[in-house]
Amino acid sequence: MTYERKNIEKMQGYAPGEQTGTLDTIKLNTNENPYPPSPQVAEALRAIDVAALKRYPAPLADSFRQAASKLHGVQVEQIVPTNGGDELLRLVLTTYVEQDDSIAVCKPSYSLYPVLADIQGCKLQEILLNDDWSMPEDFLDQLGASKAKLLIVVNPNAPTGALLPADYLARIAENFDGLVLIDEAYVDFVDPELNYDSVSLIESLENILILRTLSKAYSLAGLRFGYGIGAASLIAPMMYKTRDSYNTDYIAQRLATAALESADYARENCTRIRQHRESLRAELGQLGLSAPPSQSNFILCQVPDSIGAAKLYRELKSRNILVRYFDQDRLRDKLRISIGTEAENAALVAAIAEIISA
Ligand SMILES: *Cc1c(COP(=O)(O)O)cnc(C)c1O
Repeated sequence: MTYERKNIEKMQGYAPGEQTGTLDTIKLNTNENPYPPSPQVAEALRAIDVAALKRYPAPLADSFRQAASKLHGVQVEQIVPTNGGDELLRLVLTTYVEQDDSIAVCKPSYSLYPVLADIQGCKLQEILLNDDWSMPEDFLDQLGASKAKLLIVVNPNAPTGALLPADYLARIAENFDGLVLIDEAYVDFVDPELNYDSVSLIESLENILILRTLSKAYSLAGLRFGYGIGAASLIAPMMYKTRDSYNTDYIAQRLATAALESADYARENCTRIRQHRESLRAELGQLGLSAPPSQSNFILCQVPDSIGAAKLYRELKSRNILVRYFDQDRLRDKLRISIGTEAENAALVAAIAEIISA
């Protein structure tokens, strides 16, 4: 006997990357930032008076929305703060997708999407990326044929690290009779010389919604804070109807605001991570683990058959180094490795060299 809804009974939950209680693990498996949050965040935390917690937080998270609107040059009404970027994904489904609708995603991409579709009880249409992780030539035709009402694209993509240009996304949105959610969890790691900018698209394209998170670039995965950016008409139903009245708490609002107000600090860390990404990619390439170029804070490495990705994952784990292995088509011979500090990356390279030569 079960009291679950049928779709819930049938579904599998999301399998998060392992978390360890000890800080001495070299954790390169969940794309966390290896650096601490900004000093202004620490300051904001110290300044919190516990007595303030007896009151409910600002229901519209005004200070945070102001900081975000200033950072992106948009109106306050174009921002919806959420409890992690993941809550925004869930809100978009609740608000914009009927149970009989389909949502379209690329494959491979974020493994949470199929879970969210299962919870909602809607259909998931997966459009296969090419073997070099580029979009298939006939992507728009496949999208049209899918009859999807919502397309979710991660850009830069996870777990591949590939970036689609903003004008390509604009073309999709112009030719798609539905909502395009651009999941930009990793956008802060894109090379600035590429001048990637999707936020300016929302001025003319009212079917584009952008997801941002403080988990990656701002080193605040533990805080649970994200937000959506889009046309005010897209944001309002989530802001005033479907989100929990107090979806972000008082402490999180204060700290998230401080983080955006000190965005320069995060930007510097991202610059450093980009540099380490390129050196790590080169060093692992020399060991035979090549990875395509990445615009993210991780690389997806090809593991030679002589070692095997699953085995390398286990060997590293036994040395207290965690990386991500996906037991999934086209990914079983690869490992996704988050970029750590210089010392962590060096320890990883040394461990892999040792495992290979054993
Ligand atoms: C990390 C991540 C998110 C958001 O994560 P939160 O921690 O919930 O903010 C969204 N999409 C992708 C692809 C991610 O990797």
